[in-house]
This record gives sequence, structure tokens and C-alpha cells, in this order.
Amino acid sequence: MPFEINSLFTVIGQAAVYFVIFLLIAAVLGSLLVAYSFKTERFIFPNFMLFSITVLENLVKALFRLVRMDDSIVDKVGIEVRNKVSIKKFKDTPKNKRIIFLPQCLRAVDCSSRLGPEGMQCTNCGKCEIGQAKKDAEGLGYKVFIVPGSSFVVRLVRKHKPVAILGVGCITEVVSGLEMCEKLNLYGVGLTLDRAGCVSTVLDWDEFYEFIRMTD
Ligand code: SF4
Repeated sequence: MPFEINSLFTVIGQAAVYFVIFLLIAAVLGSLLVAYSFKTERFIFPNFMLFSITVLENLVKALFRLVRMDDSIVDKVGIEVRNKVSIKKFKDTPKNKRIIFLPQCLRAVDCSSRLGPEGMQCTNCGKCEIGQAKKDAEGLGYKVFIVPGSSFVVRLVRKHKPVAILGVGCITEVVSGLEMCEKLNLYGVGLTLDRAGCVSTVLDWDEFYEFIRMTD
């Protein structure tokens, strides 16, 4: 009997060692793919990359820091890969089932819009690009909301029940927004700000217009 228990512990121990080795190899391969994709903008084995970025995120980022590389590359590539995976479904979704979320930090500092139950109520005063962008996107059939935070996003998603979402924000917001889309089985794509912060943030609006027209 003791012999059987010893054998069982040995098997469990060996399995644990193999599992750790598997995780390490997966993290190293995932890191190499992320770095390659970042340099070349070519995304090979996207599903494996997403697995390594999602399940082994901390390990992959630790490997980046170990070789003195910026670990935000992992999030940037993760956003690109998720965009690529979702873009076809996003395009196939009727416009009235798509929502765009813009962050309130993109507004002009002297914006006079008021906060309502559906986010900031833009009056298209012309002081920032949001008014025109909202008008253009709504003209294409999108619903557009200017939101002060993720709690608004969750509430508006529950209320309007979109099938696809374009989220604009800083890297952290976009990553968590795309993860929320995955959990809710929504087709999420994200555009990141060129300059993040609490106010006076900057978006490449050409990229925004190009995206909403390209998916028209
Ligand atoms: S265009 Fe809209 S969001 Fe921009 S400053 Fe004017 S009211 Fe505010």
C-alpha cells in the first residue's frame, strides 16, 4: 500500500513538472510570436498567441521585462490580434447592432456637454472632433456614446444589446473592453489613443474614420 501511495505521489510530481515545463515553453513561444508580430506586423498563429497573452499574460510580460523590453507591447499586440480575429464578424454585423464607445477625455477641456444616463450629451459645438465623428458614425447607422467609465459601458451594453462594439480608449481600457466582449460573446474591436490621460487625450481621427468607412 505505501508503495502505491509513493508511486501516486511520484506520478503527480512528474505531471506537475511536465505541466510547468509546458507552461514555460508556451510562454517563451508566445513571447517570441508577440515580439515578431510587433516588429513585422505579421500575425502568425493568432489563436496560440491569444492563448499565451490571455492565459499566461503575467509570465509573458515577465519574460519581456527579463530581456528589458517594454511589456506594453504584449497588450498592443493582443489588441491587434483580437481586432484581426473579430473584424470579419464585426463587418458582417448590421450597423444598427453596432455600438461605438468614445472616452470623455477626448472632449475639449471647455466642453459644455452634460452627463446623462447614456453618457455625455454632445451638442456638436465644434470645439473638438467628437461632434463630427459622432454625426458621421450615426449617419452610417452606428449608435455612439461618449462615456466617462466602464460602468457606463456595461450599463449601455445591457440596455442596447449590441452584437459588435468598437471601443476607443487607452491600452488598459481597450484590453479590458475586448475581454468583456469575449465573455459576452460580442465582436469587439478597439482603437487606442495616441496620447492617453485624464484630459486632452489624442486619437488618430483619420484612423477612426478609415475604420468606420472600411467596415461600412
Ligand atoms: S463637440 Fe461635443 S464633445 Fe466636443 S466639446 Fe463640443 S459638445 Fe463637447
